[in-house]
Amino acid sequence: LDHEEFRRQGHMIIDFIANYYRDIEKYPVRSQVEPRYLHKRIPENAPYNPEPIETILQDVQNHIVPGLTHWLSPYHFAYYPANASIAASLGEILCTGFNVDGFNWMASPAATELENIVMDWLGKMLELPESFLFLGNGGGVIQGTTGDAVLCTVIAARDQLLNRIGRENIVKLVVYGSDQTHCSLHKAAKIAGIHPNNVRSVKTTKSMAFALSPDSLRSEIISDMEAGLIPLYLCATVGTTSSGAVDPVGPLCDVAADYGIWVHIDAAYAGSACICPEFRHFIDGVECANSFSFNPHKWLLTNLDCCCLWVKDPSALVNAFSTDSEYLKNTATDSKQVVDYKDWQVPLTRRFRAIKLWLVLRSYGVVNLRNYLRRHVEMAKHFEGLIAMDKRFEVVVPRKFSLVCFRISPSARVNGCSADDEESTANELNCKLLKSLNDSGRVCMTHAIVGGIYMIRFCIGQPLTDYRHIEMAWKVVQEYTDAMLGTYLK
Ligand code: PLP
Repeated sequence: LDHEEFRRQGHMIIDFIANYYRDIEKYPVRSQVEPRYLHKRIPENAPYNPEPIETILQDVQNHIVPGLTHWLSPYHFAYYPANASIAASLGEILCTGFNVDGFNWMASPAATELENIVMDWLGKMLELPESFLFLGNGGGVIQGTTGDAVLCTVIAARDQLLNRIGRENIVKLVVYGSDQTHCSLHKAAKIAGIHPNNVRSVKTTKSMAFALSPDSLRSEIISDMEAGLIPLYLCATVGTTSSGAVDPVGPLCDVAADYGIWVHIDAAYAGSACICPEFRHFIDGVECANSFSFNPHKWLLTNLDCCCLWVKDPSALVNAFSTDSEYLKNTATDSKQVVDYKDWQVPLTRRFRAIKLWLVLRSYGVVNLRNYLRRHVEMAKHFEGLIAMDKRFEVVVPRKFSLVCFRISPSARVNGCSADDEESTANELNCKLLKSLNDSGRVCMTHAIVGGIYMIRFCIGQPLTDYRHIEMAWKVVQEYTDAMLGTYLK
């Protein structure tokens, strides 16, 4: 780890990435390679002799870049975004440069204390009640992903309940979500030992904009209890993956409270928007939940990975995850004055993620973070306006944030080529359209099927995206639609 060599090679890598950002629009957004392409290009064995960074970087350019889907392209509208910024990238460099393993306070006090501080900062930005903050009796932890956050909270809830009612009752525990809840809940339930028959995906409907209905939840709970089962955990989503639907947090918490259910709020994507006062109402009622998480790595200018989880009762996590290894014992832990984050997560080892979040919060300030989010929402409105001007298309579900779900409408009839009223024909057409869009490499979008409707998801949230990219993307959509349906005549 020679510092001068680090400086030399480090400059080369920064130059490489800077050039990548400069040229990013030149690359096909979605990688166009075939499966196993890289196996044909990279030797079967690791080199015996060292190779210079110059050669390695050449290979990154020639062999790795073609196999990348360019998530940071301004034409990447797929999934939910994966954000990056100068501040967070440099924060990552600090994190990886220091390379501390802050599993407990003693292992690197700054790592733990900065995490305590930024989690309270961010919690206040979201107007979370004090009960979720360290300055109340709660607290926040940075995990890698929402999957981690859901797993940890399911396990914390499970152990809290089973410690009371007896571990043999694990087979009776039931977890609840809707048919729109992210599959993280299913995975977490599986790992937590919840019986596979006891994971409820409560049906949502178009008339409820695909949000979980508190009445439907209550009916499920009642019928489970009548069958002798025990309700454990509800995952409510603010900004569902398919369509950005928002489950009504307050009313769902009211139902859950009647049965002593742990409520987790998964705001993986939309949580970022809730730092803006005009979007905060989407998490109204969070004060009655047990835990809340969102991913700054999706939409808050923070490079992967960074999921922020707050809990009202940290002891539920600690009781579930603490271990008592001799080699980790220390006086700070004994004093009970510190947080040992190893007891808030599955692994022992943890990266110093707080430093990148700290750089983001300081470099942008609340004001510019809000402006960043608002601009994307404004661009989404602009995109909706473009859709509205072409009668072949429709927006499928009401937009709340920066995700627009649209499709060629089943009623589009152009040049004798009919999309028919049949949803299945419309679904096929939209599927075909999406494939040609992504095959073109000019834009990247993904799809979802909700209520039997195949729709194209257009999510704005990448830091380089501007109005001109939105307009160009729409032109590309129209062009490929023209080719499929014939030109739209006014
Ligand atoms: N929850 C929601 C609502 C999501 O949209 C996603 C991913 O898009 C996830 C959870 C999964 O997040 P992660 O990849 O951080 O586990």
